[in-house]
Amino acid sequence: MARGETDLSWQKEAICALPENEKIRDFFFSTEPTEKYQAKNLCFLCPARQGCLKWALEHRQIWGIWGGKDEGEIRRALSVSGAGQETRRRRFPQCPYCNARPSKLESLVVDSPNGGRWATMRVVHCTSCDFTWRSRTSANAVDAYHVERAEKLVKAEKEKAKKLERQLKRKMKDSERAARRQAAIPKR
Ligand code: SF4
Ligand SMILES: [Zn+2]
Repeated sequence: MARGETDLSWQKEAICALPENEKIRDFFFSTEPTEKYQAKNLCFLCPARQGCLKWALEHRQIWGIWGGKDEGEIRRALSVSGAGQETRRRRFPQCPYCNARPSKLESLVVDSPNGGRWATMRVVHCTSCDFTWRSRTSANAVDAYHVERAEKLVKAEKEKAKKLERQLKRKMKDSERAARRQAAIPKR
C-alpha cells in the first residue's frame, strides 16, 4: 500500500463485527464504565487491534473505543482536546499500543508522495513495540518532550558543575586557613 492511502484490511478480522458480538457493539460508544470495560476486553482478543488503533489515530477518532483504547487515551496519544484542538499538556503521550513511556517514542518526518501543503508527514514510532502511526500532533508532543528532557539534562549538568566549583572553592579556603594557622604556631 502506498503511503497516505487508507488501509482498511484490518476490518476483515474485526471481531466486533461478528454477529455473536452484536449485543455489545453499542458499548464501544458507551459512557458506562462496565460497558466500556467489556468493549475494551473484546478488543484485546481481536486480531485486528493493531490495524484498528493505527487507523483510529490516523483518522482522529476521538470518540469511542478503538483498538482497546477509549477516547481519553486516544486524545492523549494524539495530544488533542475533546474539540480536536492541539493541546500542550504536562503529560506527554505514551505508546497507545504498549503504553511505553514517552522516552521510548521518536518522531520521524516522511516524504509524502502527494506533496502540497502537507509535503512531509510526521510518523511516531515506538521503539519498544515497533508500533507506528501518522500524526502531526503526536509528533509535535513527542518532539516537545525530547526538547524538555534535553533542557532538563543540560540544567542538571550546569547545577552539578556549579556545586563542584563551590566544593572546590570551600576546600581551597579550608586549606589556606589551615596553612595560615600552621604558619602562626611558634617554632620551638
Ligand atoms: S480492536 Fe476492538 S474496535 Fe477494533 S476491530 Fe477489534 S474489536 Fe473492533
Ligand atoms: Zn509501543
